[in-house]
Amino acid sequence: MNPRDPALDGELDTPRSARPVPTQAHSPGGRIEVVCGSMFSGKTEELIRRVKRALYGRQKVQAFKPRIDDRYDATRIVSHGSIAIEAVPVATSESLLRRVEDGTQVIAIDEAQFFDRGIVEVCDELANQGRRVILAGLDQDYLGRPFPPMPDLMAIAEEVTKVRAVCTVCGGSASHSQRIIQQASTVLVGGSECYEARCRGCFRPRDVRPGEA
Ligand SMILES: [Zn+2]
Repeated sequence: MNPRDPALDGELDTPRSARPVPTQAHSPGGRIEVVCGSMFSGKTEELIRRVKRALYGRQKVQAFKPRIDDRYDATRIVSHGSIAIEAVPVATSESLLRRVEDGTQVIAIDEAQFFDRGIVEVCDELANQGRRVILAGLDQDYLGRPFPPMPDLMAIAEEVTKVRAVCTVCGGSASHSQRIIQQASTVLVGGSECYEARCRGCFRPRDVRPGEA
């Protein structure tokens, strides 16, 4: 009879059934993904790419966007590159939550920075229900400040992807949105007529002076 290493005894002698069974997660599959960056960084393209993959996988997907953003299309998410998916415009995070249907596995939210603070709790709740929540949004405003509620969404997300644009001045990697028209409000919905992507070195937030229109 071979002597046994006493150090292994505990491990070897424990019957499989007596070992702690990893408890099944309360909400398997539930997660939050944030795709963020400046204007023209391809956030929406990335959101749409993930949605299309989910659709190919025959998952039930619902897409939402804030009602404030009707630049391109009222009921679709359209990137600057003109790729589109159907989306429901909603005015508040509460109305988004109300519209989520049973059986929806993936929830896509574009322009998340335009939602009220309640979107953080709503996304948390949806993920806790086992759903995959994918958000795209601007991480900084036109002065380079964190754009609420994105920082909180990024904090509770399982995965954060920062996408970069190309700086219109030097061609470097850009993560700032330079406002190129004089308007001081934080929310100015627009495209290339209002904004340019800039790197840190070429970003000039003070070129936009509050109060000038
Ligand atoms: Zn630059």
